Amino acid sequence: MKTSDTIFATPLSALPFQSDAQAPFRFFSWLVVEVETDGGHVGYGNAGLCPDVTQQIVDTKLASLLLGENPLNTEYLFEKMYRSTVAYGRKGAVLAAISAIDIALWDIKGLVMNQPVFVLLGGRTKPCIPTYYSRLYTRDLDSLQQEAAQFKKEGFTGMKMRCGYPMTEGMKGLKKNVEMVRVVRETVGDDVDIMLEAYMGFNFSYARQLLKAMEPYNLRWAEELLLPDEIHNFARLKQGTSIPLSGGEHEYTRYGFHDLLQAKALDIFQFDTNRVGGFTEAQKICNMALVHGVEVIPHGGQMHNLHVVMSSFACPMAEYFPQTEIEVGNEMFWYIFNGEAIAVEGQLQLDDKLPGMGLTLKQDYLDQFNIVTHEH
Ligand code: MG
Repeated sequence: MKTSDTIFATPLSALPFQSDAQAPFRFFSWLVVEVETDGGHVGYGNAGLCPDVTQQIVDTKLASLLLGENPLNTEYLFEKMYRSTVAYGRKGAVLAAISAIDIALWDIKGLVMNQPVFVLLGGRTKPCIPTYYSRLYTRDLDSLQQEAAQFKKEGFTGMKMRCGYPMTEGMKGLKKNVEMVRVVRETVGDDVDIMLEAYMGFNFSYARQLLKAMEPYNLRWAEELLLPDEIHNFARLKQGTSIPLSGGEHEYTRYGFHDLLQAKALDIFQFDTNRVGGFTEAQKICNMALVHGVEVIPHGGQMHNLHVVMSSFACPMAEYFPQTEIEVGNEMFWYIFNGEAIAVEGQLQLDDKLPGMGLTLKQDYLDQFNIVTHEH
């Protein structure tokens, strides 16, 4: 598939001599986990995070823990997987593997109960799901303007753009990042939310200066300004800015989010259900966030996140990656599953009658993938 030229700040872009600092953060493979029961139900989970390693963890460590178990015991099975891997797991690819299985188990639970997963999680908390458009990868000001105007025309009332200039370009680059935001704000006017993504690309000092310079543009949030472990520095940044800070896309489990809450580090949590520990952990984190007045707006589109958003009062909206050519990898799910919700006038709807996650594998694009299959 064709890839367009995308530019954004990354953790590597903070280092000198990085000619292609985006490369490790684009991905072109995906893991689909199928769990089959002796009753003939098949549940689907998936992982976009480091799929080759994640697949090894499913195959060599997790699959054997599930054989012979009751798939409806999701709480117990999460705990069994988490505790079996805790010595080397807790975060990252191991949690992505556990998440994919947990999502597949909830899919099965929905099929067995003949209810959508969001109903099992608590039911509807909203008539439909508002979304914000997530793209704007270019740093060319004319293209940025055109794209932003197009999203607004399509009915989206929020859109996320990327910091196009790395920290290594200093104040000159910082000014260009501000210029990008100014252009988008001028294009869409005051009634559209603008979110700014930094994808872990900055340090405390740069982030503090950037936030100060961004104050006039009424950002809905500034996302992942720092590396995920800099919880203490997020808390310091939050004290000095009126711009809401978001993060958590690379944080894991109730324990990780408890640390963020205790430190008062973020205003908005952005876990991805297929990294954070599946529905089993996502539900707990939403409840903790609700108590602390923190919003949860999960990373990525995809049904596993939409079922969470629909069923929790902590979640005001969802991210929406449009159905485009593959640019950074976040769009790949459109080519893998049937049943992913499509936004109309910026809103998504879930079917009250469709049991489980509501997904099946898409046949249309299979010949464009190199498929590797493992069975247990
Ligand atoms: Mg992000």
